[in-house]
Amino acid sequence: MGMRERNNLIPTINSYIQHFSRNGWPILATRDWHPPNHCSFTEQGGPYPIHCVQGSRGAQFHSDLVMPPGMMVISKGTASKKDAQSGFEGSSLADRLEDLEIKTVFVLGPAIQNCLKQTVVDACKIRLQVVVLKDAIGNLGDLPDTLNEISQAGVLQATASDLGIH
Ligand code: ZN
Repeated sequence: MGMRERNNLIPTINSYIQHFSRNGWPILATRDWHPPNHCSFTEQGGPYPIHCVQGSRGAQFHSDLVMPPGMMVISKGTASKKDAQSGFEGSSLADRLEDLEIKTVFVLGPAIQNCLKQTVVDACKIRLQVVVLKDAIGNLGDLPDTLNEISQAGVLQATASDLGIH
């Protein structure tokens, strides 16, 4: 998938953020936040080009995303020797959700096949009800198969119109 297609998700993502924020629901955003010598980088023998280096422009959220005040940012992949696909892996996400007494999470993001999928799987493991916002997830590879797979784990799916967002 090209950048253009990913950028097209942003208006939908912004609508969701605005809707949830108006309802007073917490918004949590995960991000890769890697040291410059991170193990996932090809230079270190990993599978990915250098990306999301701590403090760099590439680690910033997209400038067109409208972030509400009080949005919580959860960093992952912060240690040089360990990568994290899931937003829960080696991060404070589970603790934050527990502190907030969250029972249901609505999930969106650009990378359905790896980061988002692993995040959903981990959310199910700690018995959260997960709703994947299927019009606000990127299509890296075979989206229908991935959605089928996570549906079998009890994950629900919704779109903006299902939630009355226009
Ligand atoms: Zn990464």
